[in-house]
Parts: sequence; structure tokens; C-alpha cells
Amino acid sequence: MTGRNIRAGSSAEDPVIIVGSGPCGAMAALELVRRSVHVTLLESGPGAPRGGLVRVGGHPLFRYVDDSPLRWDTGFTATNDPETAWYRTLAGGGLSNYWTGAVPRFSPADFGSATTDEAHRWPLSYEDLAVYYERAENAIGVTASPEAVPNLPANTVSKPIDLAEQWRPIAQSAATFGHDLVPMPLAKGSPHMAVGRGTEFNSWHNIVNGLEKNPHFSLVTNAHVQRLDWDAPSGRVASASYVDRSTGVERTIRGAAFVIAAGAINSTKLLLASRSSDFPDGLGNTHDVLGRYLHDHPKDWWPLETRAPLPLPAHPIYMTRSVHQNEFAASWTVGLASSRDRPKTYVGRSGTRFGVQVFGTMEPTPEHRVSLQDRATDENGDPVLNIHFGYDQSTIDNMLATRERLTAVFAAAGIPARVATSDISLTPGESVHYGGSIRMHDSPEFGMVDKDCRLHAVPNVQVVDTSVFTTGPEKNPTLTAMAIAARAMDALHRS
Ligand SMILES: Cc1cc2nc3c(=O)[nH]c(=O)nc-3n(C[C@H](O)[C@H](O)[C@H](O)COP(=O)(O)OP(=O)(O)OC[C@H]3O[C@@H](n4cnc5c(N)ncnc54)[C@H](O)[C@@H]3O)c2cc1C
Repeated sequence: MTGRNIRAGSSAEDPVIIVGSGPCGAMAALELVRRSVHVTLLESGPGAPRGGLVRVGGHPLFRYVDDSPLRWDTGFTATNDPETAWYRTLAGGGLSNYWTGAVPRFSPADFGSATTDEAHRWPLSYEDLAVYYERAENAIGVTASPEAVPNLPANTVSKPIDLAEQWRPIAQSAATFGHDLVPMPLAKGSPHMAVGRGTEFNSWHNIVNGLEKNPHFSLVTNAHVQRLDWDAPSGRVASASYVDRSTGVERTIRGAAFVIAAGAINSTKLLLASRSSDFPDGLGNTHDVLGRYLHDHPKDWWPLETRAPLPLPAHPIYMTRSVHQNEFAASWTVGLASSRDRPKTYVGRSGTRFGVQVFGTMEPTPEHRVSLQDRATDENGDPVLNIHFGYDQSTIDNMLATRERLTAVFAAAGIPARVATSDISLTPGESVHYGGSIRMHDSPEFGMVDKDCRLHAVPNVQVVDTSVFTTGPEKNPTLTAMAIAARAMDALHRS
């Protein structure tokens, strides 16, 4: 791979091949095409699922999306917790067709600079990413507070929003516990829209469609990539092999460089399936790290009842993790307890019942992993996976403690509240935030890719989705993954 090959962008030369049109692949394509690099995007789906959305004055009046392409219980065997789920879709725009659009930035501490455990230290810092967060946010359109608070840096905001006055005593109380209470940063775009998609931002409609007329961009739909083909003499990957899902015909496409953004577990599967005599355990897997350190956010949802009424939040409210180190590695999002309450928010009604979603964290360990089954294949001819995953007692205890913490915050504000359930059900994979299985680390002993998302052992392959996360801080991951993808494309362009 030479810089000239990549930069020239002439159709006579091999393009950069991107696999996947979800938020990360689309962001990578946008960044390369913007620099006149010739890109071919291979997408397994035929396009995005049908959908529709009407928003007026920031309120969603109608929303529909066809969820029949969404899968969670097929294509794998759960080898630890039998409840394990794996949400994914083979469709243009990937999971952004279904997402909520919560886009908190990671904070400087989230990159592990203070950790004493070498295995958990990211090779890049918040400062390395700051400018790329801005690019991703400009592509998305973020509604948020423009003010930074500890543990939650400010986004580049397209529509500023503030906390309702009556929630301020709760915010002041939270601060005495070391937390901040702010509007959740959301990818909401314009307050007024009538569009043919089910979410305010999805990467197919908002990014890929806009690239299609660009002469540097080619899109191949129904292209299900099964293998990256290693060329031993040149010491690089020469081509990607894919099946055309509309005809069943197998094809090969050459590339100068390969950018993998198929979603955390699909990207891992693709590398594991790309075996050769130099890499018998999967492409670039020199130290048996590929597939390991899988992590996800333990996710809990519970109803909270308050003694006094508070405005029902039209826009969800986010309570950050505590500033006290090692305490409550979790975030709380306070929203509506039921979609039936949505119309009440249009007229500013108050209520005493809210829905609280909590994301916790877990320590990534090599035991939690994705691996290939020996012989079984799925409907796309892909190997079936084993997913060995689950939460330990300390993770569960942390999630239980988050209930007491939030009720203590409300009590100290003079508004007693109770959690209206004693049930706790933490389903692995339910937060749809898998990451870590092609992790980023300076050392190949602890990671597959370097800080530019390049495989340590394969110079012309980068992986740019949440699979490269070294750890899983309690924040929703997509914005950070898009920023990492943008930064990696800068590195590719410079190489
Ligand atoms: C209900 C729901 C709510 C969510 N809410 C949030 C939220 O509020 N905030 C947040 O940060 N995240 C949220 N997420 C998660 C978020 O959607 C994902 O993190 C994000 O979409 C991941 O982006 P990606 O590009 O890495 O992968 P994906 O979105 O999974 O896209 C992968 C793409 O690769 C394609 N592909 C896969 N395999 C192949 C192959 N072999 N060959 C060719 N193409 C392939 C797929 O068709 C798809 O287009 C939510 C998810 C769901 C389901």
C-alpha cells in the first residue's frame, strides 16, 4: 500500500474498500470521500428498512420502522449465560435504523490514563479525539446542553437545550453526591422533520445517500463479505471475497486498503474467518487476542415513583457517573415510564412515575469472547459463533446499588422517591453495546489494532467500530466509535 495509491482516487487504481454502512462505516466513507480518496463501500443489505418519522417542535408525532431484519437470538450459541442476546441487522445503515441516538462524549478519564492496569489503557487520549468528535457531531446534529460537566465533555451542539427549572433541585442534590444532571445529548437533528426513515439520524439516509453522486464513491449493496484474502508475498490483504445475496454469486474485489465496520461482532467474525497459513487463527491474530475481552454495558430499567410531581421529561435527563473514583461506574437516564405519557409532554404536564435506564460497566477479561464453531454455518454461509459472556457478582451488585443512589439523590432534594420493583434482570447483550473483541492497545499482547485502528500484524487493514474499544465506559458508544473511525481515516490518508 502506498500513499499514492490511496490518495490518487483514480478509478484505474484499487479503491479503499469499506465493509458496512452503519454509523462507523458511513463516517469512514464520508471522511475519505471528502479528501477525494476513491472508496468502494460493500454493504450486505439491499438498502435501509422502510420507515417514517414526523417531528414537530422537537416532539415525535409519528414513528415507524420495519424491524423484521433485526435479529438477536440466531447465528450463535451462548456458551455461558443462556440468555445472551446479539442484536444485529444486515441492512443499509445497520443498527442506526433502530437506535435511540444518545451521544454522550467519553470523558478524558474514560481512556484509562489513570488506570494501573496496563491491559486497560487505551493508546489514544480524549485530546487525540476531540476534533473528530466535532466532525461526527456535525454529521449527526446533536441536541444537548452546550456546557461541559465533570465526566461529560460538551458536544458540538446544533440545538441547545436546558434542564427544566423544576428539575434543578434534583441537579443540585446530585452535585452534592458527585454526579451531574443534564439533558441527555441526543442525535435529533432538526426539531421539525417528515422523513422516510424511523430515526432522526440514520447513517444510510443522512450520510451514504449524500455520497452516492460523488465520483470518488461506489456502493455495492447485497455484498456480504465472507473473507479478507491475505497475500503472503506482499504481506498485505489483496482482496475481499463476498457473496452477492441477490444472486448467490461469489465475487472478489481488490483494494489498496480495507476498513472493516461491520459492527463489533460481525467484524470479529470476519477476521476470525479470514484464515491463512500465516494467520491460522484469524487475520492478524498473532497473540490469541482476537475475539477476547468482549464487553457490554449491563443494562437495567426500572420505574421510579416520586412523592411530588415533576415535569415529565420530553427530552431524557442524564445523571453522570460519580466524580469519586471507583464509585458507581454507571450512568442513569430518566425518561418516561410509558409511551402513553408522550402526549402529556407536548403540553408540559407533570407526573410522579418515571422510567430509569442504567448502564453499568464491566471489566473486560480474556474469558469473555467470541469464537467460531467448527462446522456450522448460518443462512449467509458464515460460520456460527460461540459467544461466551455474562456478568459477575460485583457487576450485579453495582447495578443494584445504582437504585439506592438515585433515590438518595431525590430524598436529599426533598422529593422522596422509590423504585417500584424489586426485580432485576440483566440480559447480556441487551444494551446492544458490544465492544472490545478486536481491541485497541499499544501492545499486540493486549490488543489487535494500534491507535490508528490498524491491525498490528497487517498494515493495510483497519477496524473502525466498537470492537476496537479497549474498555467500555458507562456511556453509549456510537459517537465515540464514529470519532475513532474519522481519526483512523485521517491516519489512512496520511499514510
Ligand atoms: C434499539 C437500539 C437502541 C440503540 N440506542 C443507542 C444509543 O442511544 N446510543 C448509542 O450510542 N448506540 C445505540 N445503539 C447501538 C448503535 O445502534 C450501534 O452502536 C451502532 O449502530 C453501531 O454502528 P456500527 O457502524 O459499528 O455497526 P452497525 O450499525 O451494526 O452496522 C454494521 C453494518 O455492517 C453491515 N455488515 C455486517 N456484516 C457484513 C458483512 N459480512 N459484509 C458486508 N456488510 C456487513 C450491516 O449490514 C450494517 O450495515 C442502539 C441500538 C439499538 C438496536
